[in-house]
Amino acid sequence: MFLRKLKLWLIVLTILISTIVISLLLNAYPRHIRYKLELRIRSNGQYGDGIWMVGASKAAITPSVCASFIDKDSDGRYEPLDGDKLSGTRIWLAGFHNSRPASRVHDQLWARAVAIDNGVHRIGIVALDLIGLFYDDVIDIRDEAERRGAGFDYIVVTCTHNHNSPDTLGLWGRYRFSCGVDASYMDMVKWLTAKVLIEAVSNMRRCRLSVAQAKTGIDGLIGDSRPPFVVDDRLIVIRFFDATTSKTVCTIIQWANHPEAFGSRNTMVTSDFVHWVRCAVEDGIRSPNRGFVDGLGGIAIYINGAIGGLMSPTGVSVRSLDGRFIRENGVEKARALGENIGMVVLELARKAELVNETQVEVCARTITLPIENWLLRIGAHIGVVKHGYFVFRGVVPTEIAFIRIGNIGMLCIPGELYPEVAIGGVESPDGADYAGEICESPPLLKFMPTKFSVIVGLANDELGYFIPKTQWDAHPPYTYGERHYGEIMSLGPNAACLLYRELVRLIESCTK
Ligand SMILES: [Zn+2]
Repeated sequence: MFLRKLKLWLIVLTILISTIVISLLLNAYPRHIRYKLELRIRSNGQYGDGIWMVGASKAAITPSVCASFIDKDSDGRYEPLDGDKLSGTRIWLAGFHNSRPASRVHDQLWARAVAIDNGVHRIGIVALDLIGLFYDDVIDIRDEAERRGAGFDYIVVTCTHNHNSPDTLGLWGRYRFSCGVDASYMDMVKWLTAKVLIEAVSNMRRCRLSVAQAKTGIDGLIGDSRPPFVVDDRLIVIRFFDATTSKTVCTIIQWANHPEAFGSRNTMVTSDFVHWVRCAVEDGIRSPNRGFVDGLGGIAIYINGAIGGLMSPTGVSVRSLDGRFIRENGVEKARALGENIGMVVLELARKAELVNETQVEVCARTITLPIENWLLRIGAHIGVVKHGYFVFRGVVPTEIAFIRIGNIGMLCIPGELYPEVAIGGVESPDGADYAGEICESPPLLKFMPTKFSVIVGLANDELGYFIPKTQWDAHPPYTYGERHYGEIMSLGPNAACLLYRELVRLIESCTK
């Protein structure tokens, strides 16, 4: 009798354990398990010299915040033991730390899209004021846009890496091991993103294109919190304007900095300094020295670049247009930073050169990278991190792309690249975990065949920091005197090197 009972219990236990194991395994797999992109397109424009069909559109993706949050000690954390009070809908803000609830909306979050067509091929670029989106969600957006007949040959979905938006990756929920993603908000974001892409297509008209590039410098704008000190401070302005009226349809601005000037204690929803960049570019700005500087009109789209390693305004004293230095993080700093950049964009746009080439080229490829970070793996299994991976191979699927629009090249990076990989300056310091020969050299920009080269950060995925292998430093002795932040938010020590090799191979095969 006892043996029979024991046998029964063992069977029940085995079934229970197997169910848990199977569900943990399945939980971690990518949702679009069969998606594999291998795209190569190239064409010359059909509308004549320098003429494109281009349209832009935008939609607010701001969450409705119906909450009351009393943050007793103003530390941006909901801690009932400190006397904090939280009621209403809980929206967890992404970036910095867990348990940061949204208290109100300061300014709107946006999805801003442009459709670029040379008569043969059509490319969509959409930028979202979010911390990032994972590959599976990007594929959902592409599927939805295609289902609704947008007719794109390729779509790039990029995020500004905004640190004041709802958690869309899962890492910043109430607790360290609770997912912060609100499924209905994600559905809304994806639906609206597909919608702006379609609207951009229906707004297409005959346009011309101009482009300009300058270095902003870093003083009072960008801090680099981790040696070696390398900053990609190039600002690139791409403007499409109506071929007949010269009215701006859209201005793409690419610069590299973390949108986190509001700081970690902020609980307001905002698109950070990017908001003021776009306001200045669209509507103009009043400067104490120069009077009112006219805006360009149209829709401004901000794209982030190589922001790893770690580009941030938080430790910087930003000089406002009226000459004050603002050290404290918050509204004033974000505004000053955005207005400074907006002013540079407006100056640059007026010096921009007209582009006559109308060639379109896209080489895009699904690749896999090893996921060596065990915390991320566990996160995927227990449903906190919503990025699937191939469990038995230990690799994540992601995507890289090289895009040519006229004489502008765009290199799409699925995360936050350390700028030294893009512009040069990778080091192999003594004491690093893998000191030795440098893998990520020569810099990626050297391989770009175009006159203007844009790094599109967080493109189609957000896999965290891509740290050069010889700068990986998780174990003592620590290089550069102390332990620095970065490794915990990275796939692992080999990710940057493998990504670099894949990117070089992609550009070379594309431009052959
Ligand atoms: Zn970051």
